[in-house]
Amino acid sequence: YLLETSVYPSEPKILKELRAVTATHPGGLMGTLPDAGQVLTMVLEMVNVKKTIEIGVFTGYSLLLTALTIPHDGKITAIDPDQEAYNIGSPLIKKAGVEHKINFINSVAHPVLDKLLETPDEHDSFDFAFVDADKVNYAKYHEKLLKLVKVGGIIVYDNTLWLGTVAVEEELVPEMLRESRHYMKELNKSLAADDRIRICQLPCGDGMTICRRLR
Ligand code: SAH
Ligand code: CA
Repeated sequence: YLLETSVYPSEPKILKELRAVTATHPGGLMGTLPDAGQVLTMVLEMVNVKKTIEIGVFTGYSLLLTALTIPHDGKITAIDPDQEAYNIGSPLIKKAGVEHKINFINSVAHPVLDKLLETPDEHDSFDFAFVDADKVNYAKYHEKLLKLVKVGGIIVYDNTLWLGTVAVEEELVPEMLRESRHYMKELNKSLAADDRIRICQLPCGDGMTICRRLR
């Protein structure tokens, strides 16, 4: 009901196309869902995001959505080691005419974040960060991103309910999800106790935690 009534009518056609091509990929279910996308769009607009960083691009749903939402001179640093998945979505990014806002870096995230941290000008310079990869490392990304995102800026962590597994007993969780579930539970606890940020954890998509840097 929610999707049919409130999400699909305003989802840009090009994002629907991107979802359609993503569905042909074996990992297609990893793509951001349009209800979560609607939250991202709202936040990007509310805080007038211009400079942003994305960890975990896949075929580019959240990336294209971000590029469509930020202003013409906005900039996105987008990081993912999977060039092949990115190649699936990049023709649509070009078609949308927003390619110039994107700096795609074909790499795992840590070395890129470390490089940014070596440059004093990059500190406190990002308005927004979207973290959607490599769940076991979220806590490490958090410490680095709190140095790169400015006071008042936003960090969004995706999949923080981890398919609902954070809310059930470990014995009921499939073996392959247990380690990531453990790290996600630890992250949720530490974000809730972190007085440098204000948080809002939403049950949309697979759970999404919005953090605002306070100091
Ligand atoms: N935001 C995407 C979904 C990302 S899925 C969307 O809107 O569709 C997770 C992605 O994280 C995968 O493409 C995977 O290649 C990438 N990934 C995995 N480990 C990573 C790492 N260490 N650093 C950056 N990206 C990583
Ligand atoms: Ca996700």
